Amino acid sequence: MSSEAVKVDADKVVTFHYSLRDADDAFVESSEGKDPVTYMHGHANIVPGLEEQMAGKQPGDKFTASVPPEQAYGLRDPNAVQRVPIKHLVNAGKLAAGQTVAVNTREGPRHALVVKVGHFNVDLDLNHPLAGKTLVFAIEIVDVRDATAEELQHGHAHGPGGHGHDHDHDGDHAHDHEHGADHDHAHDHGH
Ligand code: ZN
Repeated sequence: MSSEAVKVDADKVVTFHYSLRDADDAFVESSEGKDPVTYMHGHANIVPGLEEQMAGKQPGDKFTASVPPEQAYGLRDPNAVQRVPIKHLVNAGKLAAGQTVAVNTREGPRHALVVKVGHFNVDLDLNHPLAGKTLVFAIEIVDVRDATAEELQHGHAHGPGGHGHDHDHDGDHAHDHEHGADHDHAHDHGH
């Protein structure tokens, strides 16, 4: 590898593979067998603790990044466990504790973990599934390039594995990113 290799820095578009485990070494998810993830550095498009540890890396680099919950999905919020009428669930079906369901909220459907099932109500944990967890990422940097003018304007990477890819831990961006569709890019995305 040449010393001229582009390094991860603000406004670089970075493509990487990852494998994620929690602090107990339990497997969470990985990009193995899928497209690598692409993001634009310095725009809070990946969890802050991981972004920080990406800085200065270059293509071919492999490293492990341990990220405490405060720099990932935050601590668990005990108030995020709520009793909800079963009729508010999307396709409730047969309910059991430990399963994941979708619940209709003012902001649209949201995934939640069933804690307890009653006759008419269900106790749901609306915390992010990774809240309160230390995340241990095994990272392999695939590519680092300059952002395009359009990407700089939008504040996120485009193309395969970029913004709106199904691996997007940031709940604010759960929607697909279809340019020219329903998504106005004139404004700041405001993370
Ligand atoms: Zn865009």
